[in-house]
Amino acid sequence: MCGFLGLASPLGLDVSSELYEGLIALQHRGQDAAGILSFDGMFHLRKQNGMVRDIFRSRDMLRLRGNLAIGHVRYPTVGLGAEEDAQPFYMNFPFGIGMAHNGNLTNWVDLKANQFPQDNIPLESSCDVEAILYAFAQGLQRTLASEPIEQRIHQAVAAAFDRAKGAYSVCGILSEGVMFGFRDPTGIKPCILGRRQEKEGISWAIASESVAFDVLGFDRVRDLKNGEAVVLVPGQEPIFIQVVEHAHTPCIFELVYFSRPDSFLDEVSVYKTRRRFGEALAKQWQESGAPIPDVVIPIPDSARDAALNMAEVMGVPYREGFTKNRYIGRTFIMPNQEARQRSIRRKLNPIPLEFEGKNVLLVDDSIVRGNTSRKIIEIARRAGASKVYFASTSPPLTSPCPYGIDMATEKDFVARGKTVEQVRLEIGADYLAYLEIDRLIACGKAGNPEIQNFCTGCFTGKYPTADAAEHLEALSAERASARN
Ligand code: AMP
Repeated sequence: MCGFLGLASPLGLDVSSELYEGLIALQHRGQDAAGILSFDGMFHLRKQNGMVRDIFRSRDMLRLRGNLAIGHVRYPTVGLGAEEDAQPFYMNFPFGIGMAHNGNLTNWVDLKANQFPQDNIPLESSCDVEAILYAFAQGLQRTLASEPIEQRIHQAVAAAFDRAKGAYSVCGILSEGVMFGFRDPTGIKPCILGRRQEKEGISWAIASESVAFDVLGFDRVRDLKNGEAVVLVPGQEPIFIQVVEHAHTPCIFELVYFSRPDSFLDEVSVYKTRRRFGEALAKQWQESGAPIPDVVIPIPDSARDAALNMAEVMGVPYREGFTKNRYIGRTFIMPNQEARQRSIRRKLNPIPLEFEGKNVLLVDDSIVRGNTSRKIIEIARRAGASKVYFASTSPPLTSPCPYGIDMATEKDFVARGKTVEQVRLEIGADYLAYLEIDRLIACGKAGNPEIQNFCTGCFTGKYPTADAAEHLEALSAERASARN
């Protein structure tokens, strides 16, 4: 999973320092590497492993000149996270094209091993945006320089869609001084367009999440449709191109966990959706006759909005029972179970007052390997809880994500092949409930009734693109070898 932001301002303005601010707002989408590519007639690039704030110095910002720039934060799900895989990518010949993306290609192995070598193009990185970049360039090569830019981009995006299978949203720069964006035919990954009036003309922005617009003072224009591209010429109105028609299936896990609550995805407020998850979970809890707790406590941070509403609907007090140490890295990607469990204890410290002698209901957004829940239940008991109930605002995760959300391989999912009762025993809870899938989907759709279906592959194992299963096999082999 990754995040990107592109800014296209009228000529004469420099956008990189704003882009930097915007990338900080998207930092939750990837903390592994970041980069900015700007264009002022020439491309200027700075990218490196690390957090946004650690990568860019004043001297970099002075060098990253131009009224067009794209930036990226990376969360690696394939590859070993090498520096050369950091984004954006660009080429100067036969065209000047820069690109950043969020997503995963499910046919990347075939593209790298077979398809591009047949065209004498050796892909050098483990980053799938390189394949999209070359496919796009091949499409552009089939057009004439005299054709209108939107026709040329139409052909280039069609070529990218033709070759690159999977889920991806892209933003890029053409050396004609134009920005573009596109969203794959299923629209699994988010991509939104923003606008800001300057005295020099209109600035355009394209991003993975609308929160980047809020911090930069851009208005949300609209999300790109699935299979759609946009051409942004600074100072002019955007040109939208519907390249292919297909069923739209945005990722529901963005709403559950990944996106910031202050973002809107396909018109759906992440915050309100999480509140709805809480309400739905409260109703489900009550209907099922589950034991009523004395207090509801969220696992910070992503479960807070749901837990607060769950408590309100159930008429039970809500308390912040855990203090989170923000300076501990991600426990999710630690190399082994022991290291992950240790870090969870260091990351979350209980306030015993909220646990002593109480029946507590802990709420988290999801249970993946079960490490967090198992450890937290243990912490709650040590802090004096009489009974520890556990609720997940999403259904059991059982299937890996082929589209770039970092999920365990099949055997790591604690719920895979188990009943809820077996998972309850495994994590040591006195009661366990998962939000049912139909309720989860209803909460998402309530935010935008035009969405017919979400991608729920991680809960159901049913994926909206054809070659997902093959890709998962390759991915799991790659992860196993990376771990070794
Ligand atoms: P686990 O300990 O493996 O069960 O992971 C569950 C916790 O990880 C939950 O608290 C989630 O908020 C969080 N989580 C779920 N999916 C991801 C992900 N793809 N990357 C990082 N954290 C995640």
